[in-house]
Amino acid sequence: MLRPGADPENVSELDFLCDFCGSTWKSDRPMIEGHKGSLICGHCLTAAYTQVVLRNAGLTVPEHVACTLCLLNKSGDYWQSGTRVEVREEEVQIELEPGNAVCRWCIERSAGMLSKDGESGWRKPG
Ligand SMILES: [Zn+2]
Ligand SMILES: [Zn+2]
Repeated sequence: MLRPGADPENVSELDFLCDFCGSTWKSDRPMIEGHKGSLICGHCLTAAYTQVVLRNAGLTVPEHVACTLCLLNKSGDYWQSGTRVEVREEEVQIELEPGNAVCRWCIERSAGMLSKDGESGWRKPG
């Protein structure tokens, strides 16, 4: 997500936050963009890929929960972040509670894109 209150004329890397852990974009923390400016960082993607793809231990989410990256509720496996990123009055707050979910399709797609991006330095785990 774009940090609330960021100046759209003058955005910096620090204005881009992972929707799953609230970290900012850094050279050692590449990000992949989903719909509506949603972002997943390489660290969260590693955790998601490991749980859902490698271990085949993804979660099933209730019907009202949509994938943060594609905004759809697909049947199948999800990864859910252990931290919730919330925005209140332009302040970003990070709570140790179940946070956003991402679907297997987006995990595989993002992993494919990020591992092909040589500059990202990201590799599929496993
Ligand atoms: Zn993250
Ligand atoms: Zn998705």
